[in-house]
Amino acid sequence: MLELRNVNTYYGNIQALRDINLTIGEGEIVTLIGANGAGKSTTLMTICGATPPRTGEVLFEGKPIHTMKPNEIVRLGISQVPEGRLIFPDLTVQENLDLGAFLRSDKEGIARDLDYIFDLFPILAQRRRQAGGTLSGGEQQMLAISRAIMGRPRLLLLDEPSLGLAPIIIQQIFNIIQKINGDGTTVFLVEQNANQALKIAHRGYVMETGRITLEAPAESLLTNE
Ligand code: ADP
Ligand code: ADP
Repeated sequence: MLELRNVNTYYGNIQALRDINLTIGEGEIVTLIGANGAGKSTTLMTICGATPPRTGEVLFEGKPIHTMKPNEIVRLGISQVPEGRLIFPDLTVQENLDLGAFLRSDKEGIARDLDYIFDLFPILAQRRRQAGGTLSGGEQQMLAISRAIMGRPRLLLLDEPSLGLAPIIIQQIFNIIQKINGDGTTVFLVEQNANQALKIAHRGYVMETGRITLEAPAESLLTNE
């Protein structure tokens, strides 16, 4: 479904990604793990068009997208949840979700997405009229994920969804990511929390200082903690 070919991405003259080759197959959960500063977020931002590669290609279903703008890429069905659970604290839960609805033109589609989301996260249905900023950290992450799956993306990119959350909430969110994948959405999961990510992923890539150093089935990358 998605392929990075010999991708090199820079911030000014600092090279953040070095010759990245990576594939994500339809239906997979692929995780990218590695230490802080390895280049994981940059990889995700390179896919969604925020930091285009200087050289190399990003192909979505064989079609080059690395020259496209982020808003064109999202319209292809590639949706992202950036690091830090970006929600609008002064807008209600419902208004935050409405912002994700621009990808749908039909009211029925929007209503189906909302049903689906409230089924995944019943707590958000309860908090529908509350301001986003009054939600707990875990609930805000659930809202950020929900906004990203409005419009039913084909590929969901998640940047460290577990960051700063309690283990029980992480478990809950990862179970739901697995459920969303089971319902037909391909997932690319960037995580520092390697073992947790590898438990739900099919395949994993390990990144160190801008390079991919290992690619393997997720279970073979799991370590005993
Ligand atoms: P990770 O997500 O694995 O923590 P990042 O992709 O955020 O890593 O960062 C990769 C490298 O790029 C790091 O050395 C980081 O300091 C650098 N970097 C990230 N964002 C910027 C930026 N906006 N300007 C300059 N350097 C950056
Ligand atoms: P369709 O758009 O084909 O009518 P449905 O709403 O009937 O889709 O849902 C089909 C399947 O996809 C169900 O398993 C449902 O739970 C799941 N699904 C529905 N909406 C979404 C969404 N926004 N993101 C991911 N999966 C979804």
